[in-house]
Amino acid sequence: MRSVYWVPIAVALLAGAELPEQGPVPIKKPEQSTAAPATPASPAQLPSPEAPTPDLPSAEKEPPPLPDITAAEETAPELASCEVELRKLEVTFSRLDPMTGDNGCGVTAPYAITEIAKGVALSPATQLRCKTALALARWVAGVVLPAASTLPDDARLTEINHGSTYVCRRRNNLPTGKMSEHSIGNAIDIVDFEFEGRKPIGISPRAGDGNIEEAFQRAVRGGACLQFTTVLGPGANASHDDHLHLDIAERRGGYRLCQ
Ligand SMILES: [Zn+2]
Repeated sequence: MRSVYWVPIAVALLAGAELPEQGPVPIKKPEQSTAAPATPASPAQLPSPEAPTPDLPSAEKEPPPLPDITAAEETAPELASCEVELRKLEVTFSRLDPMTGDNGCGVTAPYAITEIAKGVALSPATQLRCKTALALARWVAGVVLPAASTLPDDARLTEINHGSTYVCRRRNNLPTGKMSEHSIGNAIDIVDFEFEGRKPIGISPRAGDGNIEEAFQRAVRGGACLQFTTVLGPGANASHDDHLHLDIAERRGGYRLCQ
């Protein structure tokens, strides 16, 4: 243990720096080593510069591999203003503890949303970034609820079910390739919409059905691109036939990928 205490001083000497006459005492807890001096050390007591310094970082060491994806860091004011917007839209939410996973996965400020609009439950439990939850709430308020209000039989939207929010995985569940936006709380997979007064409308390949369900699905999917930067669904690829993948990935030039 003793050599560890000398490392900062040895480094200072190697760098040509003079030890401060008054300043931080290198060893503040003599009880940690019975042999430790109680007063600041003089240069004469220091080990020679050739002494091994195994704890020093070596410039030749390989740098640690970069994570595959990086969780977003949000400031307290950013989160506070996001929460204000959620409250304006009558979203019921609570903030969860930070989540971390392998390969850079994680959400530093995850949110559990129980109602995405007044009287519209979101289930099952979510772990979303506030920004993602806000995009979702704006989509529901600006697109989904107005679309639902046009359905026959006075149907009232009561619940939106999703397939996943935060999941540490690669795109399309493949073993290699880029990490999914789900890995940092940026995405949600919408599976179906439940109503009072009519049967649920689930996401499915509906092109050419020529009915109100197809019209509703087209409307909510098209409108999702106003709030989300990625919208994938039936027809985009085989793995999106039964849900709408919505995420807030940031791309150069604000490019949106809506299919
Ligand atoms: Zn997805």
